Amino acid sequence: MKWTEDRSGNVEDRRGGGAGGGLLGGGLVSLIIAAVVFFLGGDPSAILSSGSTSSGFQTEQRELTAQEQQVGEFISMLTVENEQTWDAIFKQNGMQYQPAKVVLFTDVTQSGCGTAQAAMGPFYCPVDQAVYMDMSFFNELESRFGAQVTEFSVAYVLAHEMGHHVQNLLGTLGETEKLRRSGNYSETEMNKVSVATELQADFYAGLWSRYTDQREKFLEPGDIEAAINAAEAVGDDNIMNRSQGYVNQESFTHGSSAQRKEWFLKGYNSGDIRQGNTFDQLLR
Ligand SMILES: [Zn+2]
Repeated sequence: MKWTEDRSGNVEDRRGGGAGGGLLGGGLVSLIIAAVVFFLGGDPSAILSSGSTSSGFQTEQRELTAQEQQVGEFISMLTVENEQTWDAIFKQNGMQYQPAKVVLFTDVTQSGCGTAQAAMGPFYCPVDQAVYMDMSFFNELESRFGAQVTEFSVAYVLAHEMGHHVQNLLGTLGETEKLRRSGNYSETEMNKVSVATELQADFYAGLWSRYTDQREKFLEPGDIEAAINAAEAVGDDNIMNRSQGYVNQESFTHGSSAQRKEWFLKGYNSGDIRQGNTFDQLLR
């Protein structure tokens, strides 16, 4: 992908210490909170155990390396491209877009949804409307989940998380949370709701790629393939196969590799936000 000109003012870089670190109380608070955090495909159990496993505060401060600074700039560029694209899509539909914050951190940091840990993978916290990302996730994506990581893999991951922010602004996350709190649905049923939520975030990531390319002409050969490759790598079947050696479809929370590819491509190829009703299609 080609780098574009603008940079966002909504990226908070906590790498290198400083504002990072610190712990929230564990226990029940984290239990409730874990239900409202939206992961890319990482391990939500990490947030449940975060009260006891993280050992402390990042007190040490250091300068970021030149490479880390470049990564920060790259994320800032992707963030502004998300802001500009979604601002335009919201306007086309007579709505006002509110940008999300992006927090870059190393190892552990505080979020509005409890302690954020690298092991959880990137996630969106609706409480403080922020995406939390430790860049070491992309090494995992390659070594554990078999993706070939390029710049556009990172773009896909951030766009997926921004998709959850869009769902938050549109009230979709609030609706799913209501279903969960009602207690009327079994775990298997709520897993299906989760899959629909996650596949819609993939659809939004595809839609973002399409719109942003129309404005910036930033896509290069191989970029869409890289996004698809990352989406497939974080499919539930791939993650389960690699971590436990078997697949249990009832416990899918994000969708299979094939579904994640399908919905990303649907967003990219249609360029039409109305085609993204995963709930109607998957929950009937
Ligand atoms: Zn997600």
